Amino acid sequence: MEYRKNLDNKDSAPAEFLCPKCGNKGAKVGAITPKSLLNGSSLQRFDEERAYRFCKSPKCSAVYFSNSASSVFTKDDLRVKVTVKESSLDVPICYCFGYSRQSILDEMKKNGGSKAVKEISAKMKDPGCFCETSNPEGRCCLKNVDGWIKKAGKIADFEPVNDSVFDSHSDGTF
Ligand SMILES: [Zn+2]
Repeated sequence: MEYRKNLDNKDSAPAEFLCPKCGNKGAKVGAITPKSLLNGSSLQRFDEERAYRFCKSPKCSAVYFSNSASSVFTKDDLRVKVTVKESSLDVPICYCFGYSRQSILDEMKKNGGSKAVKEISAKMKDPGCFCETSNPEGRCCLKNVDGWIKKAGKIADFEPVNDSVFDSHSDGTF
């Protein structure tokens, strides 16, 4: 692997490149993540030799970009909805163990709080998580889960709840 890296200069430059759609710096993501989540036709133009970034801007349609302008993948290129890019309640928030904004909200309405962080932490130990291949961000979801629990808690008595409540909060902190 090291040997091939030396021969291939595509990614050897200090990787400072920005989302071509919004200018976000993005977060590093391993090739395994887009490779697992891109849909069939998009996967065909995915070049795993390149370095990819995940665009974190909630309002930007780009999900993955590389240091090549021709290699950008948008929301439509993925098989799943991306937590930070969607405000609706049916969007997954923990991809490994199947929690959504709605399921956590339901739990909070019923029990006055959520044990999701505790439950997910326990499941990460056993049976273990697979965020690299399930979460479009390619990393642990706990920060997003925790952010959503705090946000949902502020909506307090929970009524009325509809999707438009969340549109004004699309600041990436879900
Ligand atoms: Zn972007």
